[in-house]
Amino acid sequence: MLVNSLKALRGATLAGLLAAASAVAAATPPTAPAPTLRYTLAMPAPQTHYFEVKMELGGFPTDYTDVKMPVWAPGSYLVREFAKNVEGFEARSADGQRLVAEKLNKNTWRVRHPKQASFRVSYRVYAFELSVRTSFIDADHGYLNGSSVFMYPADNKMLPSTLTVQPAAGWSQVSTALRPGAGKFSYKAASYDELADSPIEIGNQKLLEFTANGTRHQVAMYGTYTADEPKLLADMQRVCEAAQGVVGQNPLDHYVFIVHNLERGGGGLEHLYSTTLEVSRATYGTEAGYKSFLGLVAHEYFHLWNVKRIRPVVLGPFDYDHENYTHMLWVSEGMTEYYSKQILQRAGVLSRDEYFGKLGNAISEVENTPGNRVQSAAEASFDAWIKYYRPNENAGNTQISYYSKGDLIGTWLDLNIAQATQGKKHLDDVFRLLYDTYYLKAKRGFSDQEYQDAVATVAGRRFDSFFQKSVYGTAPIDFATALGYAGLTLTSTRATGGTLGANFSNRTGKLLVATVVRDGVAWNTGLNVNDEILQINGAAPSEETAKALTDTPAGTDVKLQVRRDGLPRELTLKAQPSPDVKFTIQLVASPTPAQQAVLARWLK
Ligand SMILES: [Zn+2]
Repeated sequence: MLVNSLKALRGATLAGLLAAASAVAAATPPTAPAPTLRYTLAMPAPQTHYFEVKMELGGFPTDYTDVKMPVWAPGSYLVREFAKNVEGFEARSADGQRLVAEKLNKNTWRVRHPKQASFRVSYRVYAFELSVRTSFIDADHGYLNGSSVFMYPADNKMLPSTLTVQPAAGWSQVSTALRPGAGKFSYKAASYDELADSPIEIGNQKLLEFTANGTRHQVAMYGTYTADEPKLLADMQRVCEAAQGVVGQNPLDHYVFIVHNLERGGGGLEHLYSTTLEVSRATYGTEAGYKSFLGLVAHEYFHLWNVKRIRPVVLGPFDYDHENYTHMLWVSEGMTEYYSKQILQRAGVLSRDEYFGKLGNAISEVENTPGNRVQSAAEASFDAWIKYYRPNENAGNTQISYYSKGDLIGTWLDLNIAQATQGKKHLDDVFRLLYDTYYLKAKRGFSDQEYQDAVATVAGRRFDSFFQKSVYGTAPIDFATALGYAGLTLTSTRATGGTLGANFSNRTGKLLVATVVRDGVAWNTGLNVNDEILQINGAAPSEETAKALTDTPAGTDVKLQVRRDGLPRELTLKAQPSPDVKFTIQLVASPTPAQQAVLARWLK
């Protein structure tokens, strides 16, 4: 309230400001009502893809109030400009008089309500992007991320609010982790952060349920799918219980999975007390698809701790107006990816051999990405807003995923902590320490230095050189030594055959260059992305002739005629040995007791 009162005085002279401030102080009644905020969400014509939002604000004794729409959704590090979908913004006094509202910038509206502490705002949001990070509504269902639909009073982000959802005609379910309020489809949010971080599914979704260590978990299934539901719920329970075992403390009394079963899908987004998963409706039908679904469950569920509560200092409370920069998405995302495999292994979904197979693939993927030698995990994190979320054709040459690299950093640290403590400690203990120290006690996130200090406290030794060289720098990670601590060998096999160092794609009947690999033949010869392949060794592209592009012995010349900017040109590329390496991991025949202790701490 103080902030609101003083804000109205911005721009005044100092003398005027002081006089006005004392006048405000004198004029403010001692029993001014506390501000209140009520949202109503309606969707009377879902087939037109609009949500209708009403905000009723009370106890705002100021001349004006700024109302904002976030530019991004927490967990998805891209400025998405949600205000672009807003239309029909209108403000009225409590008695229905139209109030002056002006737009100050792309996502801020200033509502002038002099002498009227209560007023309301209404607007529509076009919602036709069905992803876990955005909002969508059509004749079948509605789904929303709060940050892309609900505005907030700029200076009252921590204000509790209520929400009443009015489902479209014929819809009988609302699924959200928000706590119930008074009345059907009414909910309470302790702050805007909670409202923004509690997605809502509205429609006729199927509701399933399981209990994990005594906590109720709801599963809201949108879309048709075929699954053995009792088995699925039992497996989700095992995964959630294994995830709860990592930190050993469950911060929740309820949790909601919203699952979108679509023709194509793949991805999830974490929230305070819930997650949204987008999967192919066929995913439950194959062993690989089923395990990948459980891996997604494990990843998003582990975020309940890592990033939602154990987090870099800037990732909460959020600044919804700007990019929130951190060097540690390799912790928040990469280690979550690491733990998704760890959790599946602990839950019995992955055998040790399957785990070794996945780890070998993960090492191969990172080592075969040229960007791994250009961008560090810390840089990848910091630049997620402009690089990872906005990849171009050169991304593989210049970037490394903080998911994949962070996964491997997690592997290296886990093995090194176990080695340094003779198998007594591991990465779980780092997460436990961070949870206690920063989430429970300090009630804040941690700095880069504090993260490294926590690792050192658990391990009893520092890893400064590793962090500096291989996390904040691009020096190779010595996996062989780390795996050796657990009695494992890392074998690398060079790919056989030759390569032109380019990838091709068929688009609208044209064979085009899709990517050119750094330092390869195509890179050095000057093949461009988007060059259209007209001839391969003098013949038109066909399934047969195109084999020369991907499967040519090293040393062989491949003559290409390409079209670039409408004109033909000839290029000859001499295939080179493929630089790709495949890594495999195996247990030695007779591990030492020390190796056995590390392995036992690392894997079940
Ligand atoms: Zn994640």
